[in-house]
Amino acid sequence: MKVIKLRDGKDRSLVRRHPWVFQGSIEKGKADAGETVRVEAQDGRFLAWGAYSPESQIRVRAWSFDAGERIDAAFFERRLAAAIALRARMDVASDGVRLVHGEADGLPGLVVDRYGDILSAQFLAAGVERWKATIADLLVRLTGCARLYERSDAGVRALEGLPAVRAWLRGGSDDPEAARTVIHESGWRLTVDVAEGHKTGYYLDQRDNRARFAGLVRHYGCRRVLNCFSYTGGFSVAALAGGAERVVSVDSSAPALERAVEHVRLNGLDAARHETRDSDVNALLRESLKNGETWDAIVLDPPKFAPTAAHAERASRAYKDINRLALKLLAPGGLLLTFSCSGGISPDLFHKIVAGAAMDAEVDGALLARLEGAPDHPTTLMFPEGEYLKGLAILKA
Ligand code: SAH
Repeated sequence: MKVIKLRDGKDRSLVRRHPWVFQGSIEKGKADAGETVRVEAQDGRFLAWGAYSPESQIRVRAWSFDAGERIDAAFFERRLAAAIALRARMDVASDGVRLVHGEADGLPGLVVDRYGDILSAQFLAAGVERWKATIADLLVRLTGCARLYERSDAGVRALEGLPAVRAWLRGGSDDPEAARTVIHESGWRLTVDVAEGHKTGYYLDQRDNRARFAGLVRHYGCRRVLNCFSYTGGFSVAALAGGAERVVSVDSSAPALERAVEHVRLNGLDAARHETRDSDVNALLRESLKNGETWDAIVLDPPKFAPTAAHAERASRAYKDINRLALKLLAPGGLLLTFSCSGGISPDLFHKIVAGAAMDAEVDGALLARLEGAPDHPTTLMFPEGEYLKGLAILKA
């Protein structure tokens, strides 16, 4: 077993069960990509078993803090079974569920979503890459899903020196239809394409916020709704289900908007009440302002503007800008649902950014709720970096 020895005083985060070892903390030791290593403090004390990532700044990701644990197929079976059992205990109103959420489930770099009877997985670090075949077999056996699609085409793979992969890992076929399914979320039917959709196919983390939005639209009687960064129209379906009279879905992806149209139809909602705009959100908000339009509810669910804290400043300006425009466009008493999925922007900072936007827009509002990701995307006590999705529901004064 290869040993990675840390510099003096660099054992603190592993002692607190935080799973990352940065390159700068290592005094000596090397291993192959994904190889299991024993991480030791300067004085030789055992700290963790981990997977070595020769190309990443995060050089080791801990598998286990238990000196007696062996990292083998049985280890992965225990971790996967625990992750799946946790979701079974949770109140998830869908058959689209995140079964494995990386570090939060003790499986750094692994993301697994279940869409009906299809699994869609991302292997984002050298450790899970090395154990891929074992993990794939276990997933099929533990879930009973015969089809597993690999969506290892996220940008972070490059930081690990790993190539992008997008292909069936178990089951499936060349027929594009094999990658498509329909999930049932909060009573709505939504199509998912695990090969062509974003990320693993769908944004399951917003499930509870979509359901909540339907209730808010109904409660506050929002008639005109602008859904910005709509993707396949999840929040638009929610708005129509909540009784909205006119809903506009805005996205820069034409295929996503085609899905949004299909979702309105699939749920028996009035297609005449829904429009799509293939446009840059920023440009559309400015145009809407110029045209003197007003809205009763606006959703802002942009992509990650700040992948890390280093991008926080530029991202803050981008968030502030769209929030300022949205707050101006809302009618008095209108509802804003605004989100950030940037790990580099804390909930506290996001609140400050939106408050700054309100200052610039010269409006005030009541904070109805602080929003977060659905519980099947958990944040653990030891790994606060796992928290990424945060949002605010605001009622404009
Ligand atoms: N709210 C969605 C998820 C949004 S993901 C849901 O509930 O499913 C972010 C979306 O923003 C993606 O669909 C992406 O195509 C879109 N997007 C990214 N940059 C954009 C821009 N500048 N203007 C419009 N859409 C954009």
